Amino acid sequence: MLAADSSRLGDECRNIAEAGAHRVHWDVMDGVFVPNLTFGPDVVAACRPAVDLPFEAHLMVVKPDELAPLYIEAGCDTVLIHAETCPHLHRSLAAISEAGARCGVVINPHTPASSISEVVGMIDEVLVMTVNPGFGGQRYIASVESKIAAVRAMIDASGRDIDLEVDGGITAATAPAAVAAGANVLVAGSAVFGHREGPAIAIKELSANV
Ligand code: ZN
Repeated sequence: MLAADSSRLGDECRNIAEAGAHRVHWDVMDGVFVPNLTFGPDVVAACRPAVDLPFEAHLMVVKPDELAPLYIEAGCDTVLIHAETCPHLHRSLAAISEAGARCGVVINPHTPASSISEVVGMIDEVLVMTVNPGFGGQRYIASVESKIAAVRAMIDASGRDIDLEVDGGITAATAPAAVAAGANVLVAGSAVFGHREGPAIAIKELSANV
């Protein structure tokens, strides 16, 4: 939703639902972990009735333990927290699960795949950042693909049903390599909302090339 029209977010949720999106991804930024500031829980809650799609909160914040419950209460089905912000990652993930939401770990471009090795047994999702977080419209970092493959191998070895998502610079041009490396969920902002023919064509193109 980072690339959506902020003056009409509920409408934009409906637009992408009609266009064929499978979930709504909220990039939550606190102005501290990343410079930008976006999407408080009240904004997410206000959009919740607009669509039936799952809501996912990607918390780019220094205090995920305090904020995660607010986003679950706002109607998020999944809460993703950064390994870099969680000194007690195991506990933070467990708290999200116990609150009734799916939980996932996000790793920045510099953070190794091994940082999730001890929590694979308790997570529903891994989000590998393909840009440095904080802004939309950035260029995809292709060198992250070897890490996507490493995470995919860890997930497959676990035998668990864990989504492997990529976020940042995902377009019809970059998606195929990310999927080939092992991703099964694509987050796209600018490529969807900024497409000159609209989100339906954008999502069709993203899906067609993978
Ligand atoms: Zn995100």
